[in-house]
This record gives sequence, C-alpha cells and structure tokens, in this order.
Amino acid sequence: MSFRRQSRNAQQLIRAIIQRLHPYVPGEQPGIRGLIKLNTNENPYPPSPKVLAAIKKSADARLRLYPNPTAEPLRNKLAKLHGCKPDNIIVGNGSDELLAMAVRAFVEPGPAVRSSIAKWSRAKSLVQFFHPSYSLYPVLASIHGARANAVPLNKGFSLPAMKELKHGKEWDFSAALSFITTPNAPSGHGYSTASLKEICAAQRGVVILDEAYVNFAKENALSLALECPHVLVARTFSKAYSLCFQRVGYFVGSRELIAALDKLRDSYNVNGLGQIAALATLDDLPYYRANFQKIIATRDKLSYALGALGFKVFPSQTNFILVGPPQFPAHEWQEKLREQKILVRWFDAPGLREFLRITIGTSEEAAALVKAAKRILCEGSFPPLP
Ligand code: PMP
Repeated sequence: MSFRRQSRNAQQLIRAIIQRLHPYVPGEQPGIRGLIKLNTNENPYPPSPKVLAAIKKSADARLRLYPNPTAEPLRNKLAKLHGCKPDNIIVGNGSDELLAMAVRAFVEPGPAVRSSIAKWSRAKSLVQFFHPSYSLYPVLASIHGARANAVPLNKGFSLPAMKELKHGKEWDFSAALSFITTPNAPSGHGYSTASLKEICAAQRGVVILDEAYVNFAKENALSLALECPHVLVARTFSKAYSLCFQRVGYFVGSRELIAALDKLRDSYNVNGLGQIAALATLDDLPYYRANFQKIIATRDKLSYALGALGFKVFPSQTNFILVGPPQFPAHEWQEKLREQKILVRWFDAPGLREFLRITIGTSEEAAALVKAAKRILCEGSFPPLP
C-alpha cells in the first residue's frame, strides 16, 4: 500500500489561514562557543544559587507526577507580592502562551466576508497594537483569523497623545483587544502610568499592558490591572529573573478576565520545575534587584560609549538598546559584528531596518562590543586596497 497520494494532498489539508501565515520569527539560538549573545534580551546573569539548588533538589523520581495544575503555590506568592488575590493571577508557559490565550478568549475570529459587516462587529474581531512593538501580536491575530490594527507610534517611539489617537491616528477605542508593550520593545522607550491610564480609561475592549521588561524601567502600571476590570498586566520570569529556559509568565487582572482565561488553559500548562524555579526566585528578590542595577548601569555606560562613536542611541528603560549605527547600513553592522562573534538583532521590518537592537550583557561583554565597533569603524575608514 502506498501513501504517496495522501502526502501529495497533505498541503490541501491545511487551513487556508495557516497556509498563508507568516509565523513569528524568534531570535537565533546558535550554539557557537565563545559567542557574545546580545540578540534575544536574555539576562547575562545566572539565576540565583538558591533557584538552581531548588531545581536540582526537585529533579528526582517525582518528575513522574503531574505538577500543580493551576500553579497555586506560585499564584499565592505572586498575590502577596502584588497585594492582590490569587484569583487575580493566571500563570502561563511563558507570557507568550497567555498572550495567545487572550486572543482566543476576547477576540471573535473574523467573518469570512469582511466588507459586509458593521463597524461595531468589526471591532469585536480587532486586535490592536502600536507599531513598532512586539512582533508576535500580528501573528496571533492572523492565527485566529482576526483583523490586526497596527497604529504607528510617534517619532522617537513615544505614545501618540489622546487627541491624536482620537482624530489623526486610526486607533479604535472599541477594539476587542489592544496590546501595549510598556516599556516599548524594540525601542526601549518607557511610558508613564498616567499616559497609559488615559488610554485604558478610553478603551472599551480589553487592554493588555505587556510589561515584559518593566523591572528595568522607572515606573510600572500594575495598579491599572487592579483598578480597571478590562486591563491585564503581563509579566514574565524570563528576562529580569534569568529564567527564559523554564518558561514562566503571568497575567494580573480582574477575577472575571482571569477566570475566562483559566477556562481555556491547558490542564498542566506550567511545567513543575518552572513552578519550583519561579517560587524560589520570589524568595530571593534582593539577588535579582542587584542584577537590575548592574544591567541599568551597563546600559547607561554602553549608551554613552556608542553615542561617542557616532551611533544614534535611543533612551532605554529596558535591558536592551535600539541604535542607529554610523557609516554602514544596520544589517551590514549585524554581519560585521557576527564576524567578531557578537550577535545582535536586526529587524527586516518597516521603520526598523536602519537600527540594531542590542541586549545589555555583562560590563565585559559591553566593553567587547565597543572594542569591536571601534575596529569596524576603523576598517571602514580605510578603503580596501585595489
Ligand atoms: N512580551 C514581549 C514584549 C517580549 O519581548 C517577550 C519575549 N520575546 C514576551 C512578551 C514573551 O516572553 P516569555 O514568553 O518568555 O514570557
């Protein structure tokens, strides 16, 4: 018996929406020895020794058992930290999982014939976000068959004023779901809680304030998730807490929205070692706060050094900086740095092609980057021999 005919037809078995989908492109994870990896905003410092010890202690015969299905001990501890109830918190397999669940919970899949529907029902299938921001949001909308509304940020990546959102820009105050990355990625621009509050107050759908990088910022907007029933704040253990590998993120928000998300959560969505690692993290916060300070100090020093070499450096409230490099196009800089075993991120996207996003590493890694940049600039100033 041959399956050749079925395999030829396999393509036709895939939904049209998925055939057309441009998937999310994560940063590279090459296993090159000695590489200085500044491309995916990972924390350069390891998890606390107490976290590593807790994971090691738990890696035994108990791995055969299912973990706590609702991450209850972790939700209890997070609730104490944030001054809310465990019912105000849902934990995910990274915050990415929760962002995807939010689209499924709050956004109607788009109708087949778009032109025939009323404005009101169009808003019900609208996923909205500023551009540039986290490039996963439009992908989540596409997967769901929802419409995406990408509204440009102002020059310099600041938030448009309410007046502009209401009149000039195509921002929809009825959108089913609006994502705001705060501080912004990939620019690093920080937003005040007051300006976020103004937008949230005017929004009739759900708003997710994605605070993946907030521990490196001047302000956070967690209070809005506890005050406004339609606002969720997304946090992650990945970046600030050196736990990308374990995949733990969470939302804080009203009991109603959290309960809705919980209905579509996979039974055991957060792996057991991830829960243990996150719990141990919360027992050792001073270790991490000291690391935030080190990263912020390196960020400021690196920004200054690159600025002195002629880079345009955007002010950052995150663990990365967006820079416009001199002399060569940004994608050439990415290649030249890679030749020197330094990996940074370049986005082939409108409004971002002339920039590089550089994760803040250790101070030694920052010094190596500055040295490499000087070498590249020096080579560039001598034309190649004929
Ligand atoms: N939000 C933003 C803005 C991010 O950059 C990321 C990481 N790529 C995430 C959310 C997701 O983080 P995680 O799934 O690791 O919690």
